[in-house]
Amino acid sequence: MAMKIAVASGKGGTGKTTLAVSLAVSLGANGRGERTPSEGRPPLLLDCDVEAPDAHLFLEPTVEASAKAVLQVPRIVQDRCTLCGVCTEVCQFNALALLGDEVHLFPELCHACGSCKLACPDDAIEEVPREVGLLEAGSTDDLEFGRGLLNVGEAMPLPVIRQLKDWRHPEPGQLLVLDTPPGTSCPMVETVMGSDFVVLVTEPTPCGLHDLELAVEVVRELAIPMGVVINRDGIGDSGVEEFCATEDIPILLRIPFQREIAEGIARGRILVEIRPEYREILQDMTRRVAEMAGQAGRRSGT
Ligand code: SF4
Ligand code: SF4
Repeated sequence: MAMKIAVASGKGGTGKTTLAVSLAVSLGANGRGERTPSEGRPPLLLDCDVEAPDAHLFLEPTVEASAKAVLQVPRIVQDRCTLCGVCTEVCQFNALALLGDEVHLFPELCHACGSCKLACPDDAIEEVPREVGLLEAGSTDDLEFGRGLLNVGEAMPLPVIRQLKDWRHPEPGQLLVLDTPPGTSCPMVETVMGSDFVVLVTEPTPCGLHDLELAVEVVRELAIPMGVVINRDGIGDSGVEEFCATEDIPILLRIPFQREIAEGIARGRILVEIRPEYREILQDMTRRVAEMAGQAGRRSGT
C-alpha cells in the first residue's frame, strides 16, 4: 500500500515547500527499497498549492504530460427553456440570473454542483466543460512530480486540487508527498484528506504557535495522525514546544536557524542540497512517520 504524507503549515513562509521537496528527494536519491518506505519506486511529489505552486522552482522537473483542469458548468438550451426561474432559485451561489428573456450564467460563481440541471423541469440544462486550470506531470532523477495551476482570475482551487490528486495518484508501494496550500481553509483540507500522516511545519514564535494551533484543530477533526517540524529553531520562544507537549504531538525534527540554510533556500536550493546530512535525517523521520501512521491505522482498524 502507498503511504501518503501531507506537509502543511498554518501559513505561508514557514519552509513547508522546501521541507516537502527535501523529504521526497531524500527518499528518492538513496532509498529505493532498502532504506525507505518507498519500496523501490521513486516518491511522487504533488504540489497542491495550486494558487501559487513553487515546488518546481526547486526541482526544475522535465514536464512529460499535461491536462486541463475543468469544471462541468451548465449551458442553457434556449429553445427548451420556459424561463420558469427554478434554476435561479436553486443555485446557492447566485451563478444564474433571469435577465430579460434568457437565463444568464456567471461562470466564475458556478461551483459546478449540478443542482440546476437536476432541478430544471424542462430538461433545458446541459453541462459543458469550462477550463479553470492546468495539470502537469513530470520527473527528475529523484522523483515523480505533479502540480496543479489555477488559471489567473479563477476563484476555486478545490477542483484543480481534486483533479490533480485523481490524475496522478501513487502506485502500490509508492510514497506520496503532498505539498499542501498554506492556511487551514478548504484547499488545505482537500489536500490532506486521505493522507496517512500530516507533517505540520511551524516556527517557534507566537505567530507560528497561533497558526499551528489552528492547523492542529483541523487535522484532529480529520482524524489524521500528525507531527511537527520546527523550522528556524532557536528564534522566538518555547511556546510551540510546550503546546506540543501538552497536546501530545510529537516533534519530528528541529531545523536550526542558520544563515547558510536561509541563504541557500533564498537562492532556490533545498535543504538536502545545502546540508546533505539531512537526507538521512529525513529518511529516519519518514520511518518514524510510517510507524506512527501504522500504529494509528491499527488503532482505528483501517
Ligand atoms: S451548477 Fe450549481 S453552482 Fe453552477 S449554476 Fe448550477 S446550481 Fe449554480
Ligand atoms: S429551470 Fe430550466 S426551464 Fe426553468 S429557467 Fe432554468 S433552464 Fe429554463
